[in-house]
Amino acid sequence: MNYISTRGDQTERRFCEILLEGLAPDGGLYLPVAYPRIDAATLARWRGLSYPDLAFEILSRYIDDIPADDLRALTRKTYTADVFGTEAIVPLKPLEPGLCLESLSNGPTLAFKDMAMQLLGHLFEYELGRRGEQLNILGATSGDTGSAAEYAMRGKAGVRVFMLSPHGRMSPFQQAQMFSLQDENIHNLAVEGVFDDCQDIVKAVSNDLAFKRAYRIGTVNSINWARLLAQVVYYFAGYFQATTSNDEQVSFTVPSGNFGNVCAGHVARMMGLPVKHLVVATNENNVLEEFFRTGTYRVRGSSETWETSSPSMDISKASNFERFVFDLLGRDGARTKSLFGDALRCEGVFTVSPEEFARIQGYGFQSGRSTHTDRLQTIRATYEGQGVLIDTHTADGVKVARELCEDGVPMIVLETALPAKFETTIAEALGPDVHAPRPAALADLESRPKRFHVVPADTAVVQQYVRDHVPL
Ligand SMILES: *Cc1c(COP(=O)(O)O)cnc(C)c1O
Repeated sequence: MNYISTRGDQTERRFCEILLEGLAPDGGLYLPVAYPRIDAATLARWRGLSYPDLAFEILSRYIDDIPADDLRALTRKTYTADVFGTEAIVPLKPLEPGLCLESLSNGPTLAFKDMAMQLLGHLFEYELGRRGEQLNILGATSGDTGSAAEYAMRGKAGVRVFMLSPHGRMSPFQQAQMFSLQDENIHNLAVEGVFDDCQDIVKAVSNDLAFKRAYRIGTVNSINWARLLAQVVYYFAGYFQATTSNDEQVSFTVPSGNFGNVCAGHVARMMGLPVKHLVVATNENNVLEEFFRTGTYRVRGSSETWETSSPSMDISKASNFERFVFDLLGRDGARTKSLFGDALRCEGVFTVSPEEFARIQGYGFQSGRSTHTDRLQTIRATYEGQGVLIDTHTADGVKVARELCEDGVPMIVLETALPAKFETTIAEALGPDVHAPRPAALADLESRPKRFHVVPADTAVVQQYVRDHVPL
């Protein structure tokens, strides 16, 4: 399987060439030249597989430059009960007739990003080892992504992580989660500024090409194809658990921000998984909900980007969305480039044609929106009605799923985080006496020794820190 860019560059690349990359050279995102179709016999065989072996089967349709035995060893090393809590890895939790949660948040950082990032850690170590190279990952985080990356890369040979976070602005839990890591290859830089300052520094360092090359700087952002590919697996695993035969259909509701998670659902559906609807659930930052309702994609400025109680969905633009639009436009790279490269940059908005908009139905997409009040109400109703405590992001999904559920089609809501990460909003919804259970291994998290380094919001200082910690 080879990969091309969404913006018209037809140069075909192999999986391991794009594994460590972000954007394609023409500014587009990578996609496979075609989605492999899974026939009925294969789907029937997959139903009986363990999660790591299912992951191997799916990944091997997209990766032909890692020997099969090595790839199988990587998926078996990644998806263990030890790391994800159960043999099922992503067990379903029934909520009410026709509606269940798929647990994607039982990895080390209690959010679904571990599902992909843990695999990425093993893939990076493997590929860097094969090449005899090193990689220094530079990232900015306000919470989930940074901690998932650190827990995936800790102790991995050939990889260092330099993670910038806004000093004093993460929740005590998130801060403790990252700063308590004592691994030598993990560097937490607490920047005296806000998240945007952190992101600006990462951009400035990445634009310093000489520095980037000399210090082998890379990233692990959500546009990485391998991350998206790893997520395709749990759509199949959720489907097999929710049905007894491959003649049945299910729908998924996905709490969405950057469109990475639900884009993996789109890929699974294109492969032939019997998915009726893919429901995109957003919070008040409804860039995506607006597109699926109107056909207009309008990125937001910072004055229009709200800080909500489902913070990992607070986005001003959805960085993976271009992948779906490329498919929607019949894989017309020139037209995708004109929308994302030119129209967005100049005007911050584009509208697809009525014919293109009409095609969205064929891809199964629906959407809905949820607000802070909806979240509180949904958390309360789900706790009192079903005895299940859900987090704020999952609550956005459950709220929208309840509106769009159909008789006879099981609806699977992806649980993207555990409530233990968002105690303040849980208390607001349920009062101070209800406590979100925390995995026993994290009981003393906040009291562990912390390892971090405070720096001013200054690119030169961050670059000097990297120089001091990377042997040339
Ligand atoms: C990242 C994240 C999301 C959004 O996922 P996207 O792939 O960006 O759409 C939703 N919920 C939680 C808890 C997250 O960490």
